[in-house]
Amino acid sequence: MPHHEFALIDWIRHRVANHARLTLGIGDDTAVLRFPEPADCLITVDMLMEGVHFTLAGASLERIGRKALGVNLSDIAAMAGQPLAAVVAVALPRHGGWEIGQRLHAGLQSMADEFGVALAGGDTNTWDGPLVISVTVLGEATGSGAVRRGGAQVGDWVFVTGSLGGSLTGRHLDFTPRVAEALALQRAVTLHSMIDISDGLIADLGHILEESHVGAVLDSAAIPISPAAASLRDSRSPFDHALADGEDFELLFTVPPSDGQRLIASPPFATPITRIGEIVPGGVCLLRAADGTLAPPQVSGWKHGFDG
Ligand code: ADP
Ligand code: MG
Repeated sequence: MPHHEFALIDWIRHRVANHARLTLGIGDDTAVLRFPEPADCLITVDMLMEGVHFTLAGASLERIGRKALGVNLSDIAAMAGQPLAAVVAVALPRHGGWEIGQRLHAGLQSMADEFGVALAGGDTNTWDGPLVISVTVLGEATGSGAVRRGGAQVGDWVFVTGSLGGSLTGRHLDFTPRVAEALALQRAVTLHSMIDISDGLIADLGHILEESHVGAVLDSAAIPISPAAASLRDSRSPFDHALADGEDFELLFTVPPSDGQRLIASPPFATPITRIGEIVPGGVCLLRAADGTLAPPQVSGWKHGFDG
């Protein structure tokens, strides 16, 4: 084989720029990252597997590389964190592994550069199986600390960034992690709770409600439906797609009403933010129709399953 794993690591090493917080990057047994302030370190990992999360026919390797980092940046954003550094573990198919590794890296690097994230290291393996990529991201809590799922309070207004649904039309590969928006929100308002929408609006709101021991009423007419979901012609309505598709990677958060009013009066960024409902007592989520009637949503989000 003309190329081996060390040659690929060397190729990657010469493409990775220095980073202010990285004392030591690729090439030693570990990287060294500087934490000058006494800050909370955020850490998260996500794995993407060929055949489960993507197919090589359906997505370019550069887009897969971007997504593999982007999903982690979205998780850091959901805690109102500043992402700092990433490490990347890959299992490359033996056939074509060299080119796959290079193109994956190109995608990862472009996303890392856009968000000022240091590519601090990784692990490169080759095997006779499909492509697997796992990215770990380290970040730093900001402001008053990491924003959790469990802080929603009765009376809070529920907001969402962007618009929802239709991720399978390609949006799940080309989203922008809402890092800048989360940091701006953390500065502008008191974030009681926040999550990024990966499993679907109703499923992820469910996580906030469960952790916070509260319920919610959503205004059906207020849910922002993405143009992609609106243009889908299948058995489900665009509204259902917006509630349940998942992989929107938008922020879902709750704030006190006075902060909510300020957000609407002077939005801190250009990305749309929409008030979609409010937090109420009890543990359930209800949808309010135009005529005021309340009913539980008739959808469920994506669930990963086990056999046996
Ligand atoms: P070790 O055997 O000590 O774990 P490796 O030979 O696995 O070291 O890796 C050598 C260096 O290259 C390490 O700094 C590691 O973090 C880095 N590295 C390996 N694979 C990748 C990759 N895919 N992307 C970025 N850095 C990588
Ligand atoms: Mg070592």
